[in-house]
Amino acid sequence: MKRATPPETQNRLLAALPSRDYRRLARHLTSVSLPLRQALYEPGAPIRHVYFPESGVISLLTVVGLNKAAEVAVVCCEGVIGASTTLGVNTSHVRALVQGEGTALRIEASLLRKEFAENGTWFRELYRFSNALMGQAAQTAACNRFHTVEARLARWLLATRDRVNSRHLELTQEFLSIMLGVRRVGITGAAMQLQKQKLITYSRGHIQILDPARLEAAACSCYGVVKDIYRLSYRK
Ligand SMILES: [Zn+2]
Repeated sequence: MKRATPPETQNRLLAALPSRDYRRLARHLTSVSLPLRQALYEPGAPIRHVYFPESGVISLLTVVGLNKAAEVAVVCCEGVIGASTTLGVNTSHVRALVQGEGTALRIEASLLRKEFAENGTWFRELYRFSNALMGQAAQTAACNRFHTVEARLARWLLATRDRVNSRHLELTQEFLSIMLGVRRVGITGAAMQLQKQKLITYSRGHIQILDPARLEAAACSCYGVVKDIYRLSYRK
């Protein structure tokens, strides 16, 4: 772990702060790696650190019972994990799971709360992000209820491509089945369909997007809806 040096950061939420405010915060930020499958939070556990991803993909999962979980939202370098602590909620209600490895800037939750209380610019940026995240979660709930697995898989692959900026994705079937809240056999069938249409290739956990435009046509409308939610939330 090393200290982060201002004003360089790949995290867009931090980058949107006035440089003076960012520099003050940067003294408390530590760069950490986000290894694949690391759980940053579990439901009911205290939020000790807040993470600002600079790369990678983090899924927020709602856990049901002992071994069921469904993804409600994805956060990447546009946002923050654990921001509810600034609103006085210090316990996570979701599992935050790294599903694309990367790095993050991390701060102790108590220090961020102090900073948030003293610094008005935080409100604007956190509210923008929280609004977008809420929109994404609401859309995901409707998507899981109404759209086919194939269309959801296409949407999910495109959204993940946008975030990691690569057409090559390392995703096991087991992981996709958790992310989409369907059984593995459902993922296999949907992936085979997309592969048959030459939109993707899929083998041993490696997915390559062959034809993004046609994959977008195969994806459900939620892909565009969530993109618009983020665009509108961040409009100056
Ligand atoms: Zn959908």
